[in-house]
Amino acid sequence: MLFKEVIHAIRPHLMKDADVPGFMRNLIQMLCDIPEDEWYTKRDPSSEESYKDGSLRKFYTNKLSKKLAEKILSRLTRDNFLESIYDSNRSDVVLDGLAEDITPFANGVTKNNVGEKLFDLLKRGLEELIDPALENTRHQQEAQHKSNQLKGHYGSGLLDDCNNTCSMPGCSHHLQKLADDGRSTPDYEIIIINEKKSPSFSNICAVCHDCFEKYILKHTASERKELEAVKKLQTDARNARSTISEVHIDKGIKMVVESLINLKPSTLTSLNYEPTFIANKIDENENFLLAETVKNYVTKYYFYINQIMQNLSRQKQYSDELVRVEIKTICQRLEDKGFSQVEIYESISKQIHRITKQNIIYCNIVVCYFIQSCEVFHDITK
Ligand SMILES: [Zn+2]
Repeated sequence: MLFKEVIHAIRPHLMKDADVPGFMRNLIQMLCDIPEDEWYTKRDPSSEESYKDGSLRKFYTNKLSKKLAEKILSRLTRDNFLESIYDSNRSDVVLDGLAEDITPFANGVTKNNVGEKLFDLLKRGLEELIDPALENTRHQQEAQHKSNQLKGHYGSGLLDDCNNTCSMPGCSHHLQKLADDGRSTPDYEIIIINEKKSPSFSNICAVCHDCFEKYILKHTASERKELEAVKKLQTDARNARSTISEVHIDKGIKMVVESLINLKPSTLTSLNYEPTFIANKIDENENFLLAETVKNYVTKYYFYINQIMQNLSRQKQYSDELVRVEIKTICQRLEDKGFSQVEIYESISKQIHRITKQNIIYCNIVVCYFIQSCEVFHDITK
């Protein structure tokens, strides 16, 4: 609510010694043209005849009544208002303070134009009280303006974090427009997740136009929290990526994954016992699905992958030792940063996927191999 926010911002500078009703009466008098013969009568909206102290207090803390807003607007006087703002008794310090405190609501406010800017703000605030649709329009325009500004600074990073898909939970809109000739252009907006905080990278995300419109007009606290959770996942994944990209995994891993793809099921010999290491490395109570996945893949593919690696090493196509050190380093760094086992598993798998460009399932299988062979995860019993 613009009117309320603005009058709260200016009260410390204007009539700071007056109580709230006094401040409100004074403000009404500054804004309205009230002929002398109406003073103190019911026709004077600043009089006690019109509004009791209690009402004015309520108007200040909650919201001005529509009726009073209409009354003020019908008698609005710009000249009176400017005259009292620029009163010769008012010091430059006060004007500077006023200018500073209404800067969040208007552009380019200085002590020389603060009266005009303030008048326009209050007028717009009063109009919005009468027609709430105006308030929505203003919100949309402001949000759109911010979105455009933020795109320049953060756009590509945000699109990267959400994989070009709307960040809003439950929405899967693609954030790129694809032309027939194959060209794609970004097609998205940036929202500020928590309006009360600054629009820093940790408080913004990329969404589709529909979700943008809906969110900026109205959202519940739980919707905001959901979006904060999404943002956290995006940030964690980004940190994992940057941690991983500090260490490069030898391209030889590509050959291992490709051999796995060409595997014929008939050549597989499964382990005929439960892999022993897994139980010690993954807490089955906490990460049941991960433990099961790793157990299954290791039982089935461990020997086979081991063979592939040995063969490729002999042919000098794969440097076994190097890759193990690299995987181990990545795992260690992710652990140091407090990543969970599932996150580590996914991050390394995705990194192998980026190198090999092969189906993620094959990459998962290779990560499971490294868990069994001790490059990934520690013994939790230690
Ligand atoms: Zn969406």
